[in-house]
Amino acid sequence: MAEKIIIGESIAVSELAEKLGVSSADLVGALFKSGVMVTLNDSIDFDTAAIIAEEFDAELEQEKKKDPIAELKSKRKLSNKAQERPPVVAVMGHVDHGKTTLLDSIRDAKVAEGESGGITQHISAYQVEHDGRAITFLDTPGHSAFSALRQHGAALTDVAVIVVAANDGVMPQTKEAIEFAQRAGVSIVVAINKIDADGADPNRVKQQLSDAQLIPEEWGGDTVMVEVSALQKKNIDKLLEMILLVADVDELKAELNVPAEGIVIEAHTSTGQGPIATVLVEHGEIAVGDFVVVGGTYAKIRAMTRPNGKNLEKAGPSTPATLTGFKDVPVFGQRFVQVDNEKSARKQAATAKNDSESTKGVVKSVSGTDLLQAIDEKRSSQVLNIVLKADVQGSLESIIKSLEEVGNEEVKVKVVASGVGDVSESDVSVAEASEAMIVGFHVSASSPVKRQAQQLGVEIAMYKVIYTLLDEARAKLESMLSPEIQEEEIGKLKIKGVFRTTASRVVCGGLVTDGKLTAENSIVKIMRDKEQIAEAQITGLQRGKESAKEVFKDDMCGLELATEEKINLKEDDVLVCVERTSVQKKL
Ligand code: GDP
Repeated sequence: MAEKIIIGESIAVSELAEKLGVSSADLVGALFKSGVMVTLNDSIDFDTAAIIAEEFDAELEQEKKKDPIAELKSKRKLSNKAQERPPVVAVMGHVDHGKTTLLDSIRDAKVAEGESGGITQHISAYQVEHDGRAITFLDTPGHSAFSALRQHGAALTDVAVIVVAANDGVMPQTKEAIEFAQRAGVSIVVAINKIDADGADPNRVKQQLSDAQLIPEEWGGDTVMVEVSALQKKNIDKLLEMILLVADVDELKAELNVPAEGIVIEAHTSTGQGPIATVLVEHGEIAVGDFVVVGGTYAKIRAMTRPNGKNLEKAGPSTPATLTGFKDVPVFGQRFVQVDNEKSARKQAATAKNDSESTKGVVKSVSGTDLLQAIDEKRSSQVLNIVLKADVQGSLESIIKSLEEVGNEEVKVKVVASGVGDVSESDVSVAEASEAMIVGFHVSASSPVKRQAQQLGVEIAMYKVIYTLLDEARAKLESMLSPEIQEEEIGKLKIKGVFRTTASRVVCGGLVTDGKLTAENSIVKIMRDKEQIAEAQITGLQRGKESAKEVFKDDMCGLELATEEKINLKEDDVLVCVERTSVQKKL
């Protein structure tokens, strides 16, 4: 065999043909014969490509998959001028274990008087001080943003606080959070919460965590665990102290005298102020008047505040800052960079925009493995991921229940996130990260949200009637079912003479004994003594001296056949001409 050809998780048929050095028509034909109905522009997954490549005597190898979480982290090599920076902390854990309460308690206890200004709404990040040192907390809003925010959260984060309720113990999302943190190379501090609650059993939690390879220091392991009550604000200081201690081990540093860069952690449009983005600075410093480019848009920073509204003069490493002055709403999770002047800002933004537009035509692979699925989903079935938004909790619950009943063992719906209210920018981010479509029931989406969805290639479908919603979900699932190949016999021919045989062609003649033979797209099964010995494709058909599209019973005709390998066709062999159609299966 020739040397290995390296491809990704999926590949367009035309591209594969090019890599194999065969004609696209031959490749489509070969795929067709294996029961895979595709056109040149379709993508096929690695496994299919590998099987078909063997037929062309080539071997494929799958490109090593990069870990998207690890990828997101800035890979800058630090100089010896790098300075210490505050840790960035994300709070993760199972639903209802107290993440929100803990984030609120820390903020209430620690944000300097007068700074919070009585604002209790959720903001994307905040900074607190402990022992004269800053700590940045990512304040991820609600459960609806669950998966995507956590993915991005883990990538931005230095320390993950894994919250486990002492009265409930380690749950599936606790394990998932631990796994995320470990994959992202993030240090872990466990907050055993609700120690005030009835039935609280911190030791049981420690035992369960030990089973998950997180062994508490007091048992000889190296995982820091703090028992807290978020509700009663008990041991919050100790938790902060431990976070700093763990962060110190990591020696977190950042460059100061470089053009600033970082990540967008929240973005929306405000009626009075236009597009607004909250960023987390990783290196350098930004100030009002500076230019920053994010993807296809840029800003001359008009105003800069802490996410809670207090004015900020400069924002350095690990500092969250809310910026106004953008031309368009940036996209959550994108990186920003500081540039010198408006001219280069405009130029870089335009280039980024063109790049993203030119990749729009690229087919989206059907079998890309979603990060979350890879962790907790078996790969054998196809999953339609949905982010569901509805006007009231009641509808939400009944739609989820009905949606989950639509599938079968081959295809099914998974509601990756759901919530009450209009479709928001963070819903779009969640959908993008989990390769989901957004389904709305009696809700709406603002134009900026729709624009963002379009930019990211996220589909939004809105419904007012439950039956329509379920019908369309069923139709979508049906389209994901692998098609069934049906075969119909249309004619037979008896070979009367073989004129030429090469490695991949046979020229022969015969008598049609049944039905008809057609030249276009016809497959023939070659039978000898009632046994099939090979399959071939008719590439030419002649009656007398004229080429013919069809020949009928009792006609003598000449044939040219394309074969996979050399076939020694003989007189009296029978060709059975079949037509294959792919039939969409139904649920
Ligand atoms: P999240 O889903 O992880 O964000 O959990 P929440 O912060 O919304 O908390 C879920 C429930 O647990 C709420 O009713 C909280 O009041 C309660 N809760 C949170 N922390 C504590 C705690 O330390 N002790 C007790 N007894 N209840 C708590």
